[in-house]
Amino acid sequence: MTTELTRLHAHHMAARLRAGELTSRELTEAHLDLAEAQDHGLHAWLTIDRDRALAEADAADVRLAAARGEGREALQALHPLLGIPVGLKDLVSVKGGQATAGSRILEGYLAPYDAHITERLRDVGAVILGKTNMDEFAMGSSTEHSAYGPTANPWGLDRVPGGSSGGSAAAVAAYHVPLSIGTDTGGSIRQPAALTGIVGLKPTYGRVSRYGIIAFASSLDQIGPFARDVRGAAALLHAVAGRDERDSTSSPEPVPDDLLTLAHSDDEAAGSLHGKRLGLPKEYFVAGMEPGVETRVREGVAALEAAGAIVEEVSLPHTEYGLATYYIVAPAEASANLARYDGIRYGPRLGEGADVLADYLTTRGQLFGPEVKRRIMLGTYALSAGYYDAYYLKAQKVRTLIKGDFDALWARGFDALVAPTSPTVAFRFGARLADPVSMYLSDACTLPVNMAGLPGISIPAGLSEGLPVGLQLIGAPWSELELFRLARGYEAITADADWRTLEPADLPALADPSTPTPAERMAAMSIVDR
Ligand code: GLN
Repeated sequence: MTTELTRLHAHHMAARLRAGELTSRELTEAHLDLAEAQDHGLHAWLTIDRDRALAEADAADVRLAAARGEGREALQALHPLLGIPVGLKDLVSVKGGQATAGSRILEGYLAPYDAHITERLRDVGAVILGKTNMDEFAMGSSTEHSAYGPTANPWGLDRVPGGSSGGSAAAVAAYHVPLSIGTDTGGSIRQPAALTGIVGLKPTYGRVSRYGIIAFASSLDQIGPFARDVRGAAALLHAVAGRDERDSTSSPEPVPDDLLTLAHSDDEAAGSLHGKRLGLPKEYFVAGMEPGVETRVREGVAALEAAGAIVEEVSLPHTEYGLATYYIVAPAEASANLARYDGIRYGPRLGEGADVLADYLTTRGQLFGPEVKRRIMLGTYALSAGYYDAYYLKAQKVRTLIKGDFDALWARGFDALVAPTSPTVAFRFGARLADPVSMYLSDACTLPVNMAGLPGISIPAGLSEGLPVGLQLIGAPWSELELFRLARGYEAITADADWRTLEPADLPALADPSTPTPAERMAAMSIVDR
């Protein structure tokens, strides 16, 4: 019974809650039991708050019962997320709770207020199960840069789940929670979604308020949903999106209610692909792409064509500059955002207490991890007098060119672009730690989308060598609904594929309490993050 409940998609859970066949307390307990019993070998969670979650579940049950008493209309007016468990990346503020951003420098810090998205989730009645593991300050593509130890991939426990939102992705893939929140600055939702075989969407810049989210690179960061199906991700985006006065970059663009009415029937969903014009950017089939990944992506494209989509090869000529310019812009903004962690205003303070500057240096020197220090050095250098024009300003100009490549395609009438999400499947622990540039290359196909402020979604497209491959759809600004419809269409035309019936291969090992933790696994492999 318990296991069965956690296997359901969020919209199935919602239907059963409304019908009175299930309570949010039962649903929440099933997920808490599974997550508490099986996170040992996965380490997707940094904290699970059972008492708070159960209190929220009981409150949801009261709302559900009241609506059931009022009748059909009242039930239909409920948001589908009412009573549904959700996980939050540990950089989202929940009043009175931790928000470490995966860093020792925020250990023990308690958020004094709710993030905008936390308020929205409370409004719709979602149940917050806990906070998930992440690369420190969202810098990374593997979750190995978490100061609290790495997260494993349920498809292979000696492999990374991707990053930086690796905990949120692994928790959904392992059925600990049906939905979770991540953030994506250069790929941190889409790449872990691809590597764990789930759905993840990075919205248009400005779609979701960043109020109460610990910042990495403010002109690139966006908050978005993870789910095991397209409809779950669309419902979660619907709950958190929309204008918020407290984030001046959040947009008044209306949030379509049709996000909640994506096609139920596979036939209808598949039919919507007919006549869609999709661009296939040739630059996204990058050198170093695994042949197995390319095969799955090309098969996915062929399936879309077979369903009536018109696919045309296109060019995004400035793609090759995406990585270089991202690694100027993101570290520059990060170096400014991270200046506030000085041991005085947030978290622990180290040092003797006699000399402010010495204590500041000790605190930052000891409590920031190696990747964060690397980014601060890169960013401080790029912003320093005499280099600002040569690096930061130049990078911003190239960014405009990257955006222009996409704009030219929207002007030609493409509905979306289809591309790989990640050039490789999930890699082994330690495989990219010694060479930061190889880690940075994980995001070659996702970073340009952030540079241009566009929405992008990764959806499961089968397996290569037994590991998940993601297909990425990229859209024009504010086209999330269109992307979800296309993704739902793809889900429908692949509904009968053999790989859809497969569960993550290492789930049985997670049920075994003697399975080593990911940190123990890394230690046994003598892997250290330098
Ligand atoms: N991997 C990229 C980085 O390390 C992107 C991370 C993200 O999207 N937060 O910067």
